[in-house]
Amino acid sequence: MKSVLITGCNRGLGLGLVQQLVQRPTPPKHLIATCRNPQQAEALTSIAAQHRNLHVLQIDVKDFDSYDNFAKQVQSIVKDDGINVLFNSAGISTKFTRVNLVKVDQMTDNFLTNTVAPLMLTKALLPSLKKASQQNAAAPTGAQRAVVVNMSSVLGSIAQNNQGGFYPYRASKSGLNAVTRSLSVDLKDDGILVVSLHPGWVQTDMGGKGAPLTVEQSTQGMLKFVEGLGAKQNGGFYQYDGKELPW
Ligand code: NDP
Repeated sequence: MKSVLITGCNRGLGLGLVQQLVQRPTPPKHLIATCRNPQQAEALTSIAAQHRNLHVLQIDVKDFDSYDNFAKQVQSIVKDDGINVLFNSAGISTKFTRVNLVKVDQMTDNFLTNTVAPLMLTKALLPSLKKASQQNAAAPTGAQRAVVVNMSSVLGSIAQNNQGGFYPYRASKSGLNAVTRSLSVDLKDDGILVVSLHPGWVQTDMGGKGAPLTVEQSTQGMLKFVEGLGAKQNGGFYQYDGKELPW
């Protein structure tokens, strides 16, 4: 993974992925970590101060008008290396919404952030993903060429939904899984692999303190999984330890 872009790196899993990658003996040549407000992203900017390969870029993923300019900034950093791995990690969760409580703005907000943004950002960054895939055309399909990782959730699994509720989050992640599958078909000939990845239930602001997995355990598992990806897994739904999940 020469060139990696991760969204939502102010805290949680995005920040955890950055921490894992900068510690490596061979860290990515270009590591682009995005956040909504760099001035307030103290943990992230302090890591960036110690690692010249880490670039912090500002983007609110719901600000779709900013995508063209964002893609230009990315391009000016990665140049001909392109992007090998895009982690669409930024996400929100409106929890505990039973049918009598669910609101329109909860549905649209979750949908815009968790479903529309990963699709439109992948679209905006396609030239850089294609570039990385072309530059490494001799390598097998996977992280040496180009991979899009859509951070999904087991709560988006329709087959495993026996508890109901969670309408905004569940529907947005099920929608994201549909986006993953279509992208995997559409981008296959470009050598770009696309998967949905459930990080496990993790101790972040979203997962809560009672979650069984630490950020370190989840992010280490996800990176190992992503580096081992091959054509057989294209368009699938997996969790952090490589287990396949039902749609
Ligand atoms: P957190 O709530 O800890 O962090 C969410 C991150 O997303 C923050 O950096 C936040 O930025 C960013 N974000 C939210 N909205 C936007 C936006 N509009 N523009 C830019 N950034 C935004 O969540 P996690 O790290 O736990 O979750 C990461 C991903 O993993 C999500 O997609 C989530 O659905 C998924 N996931 C997490 C699980 C868990 O147990 N933790 C389980 C299953 C899936 P800011 O700090 O500015 O708010």
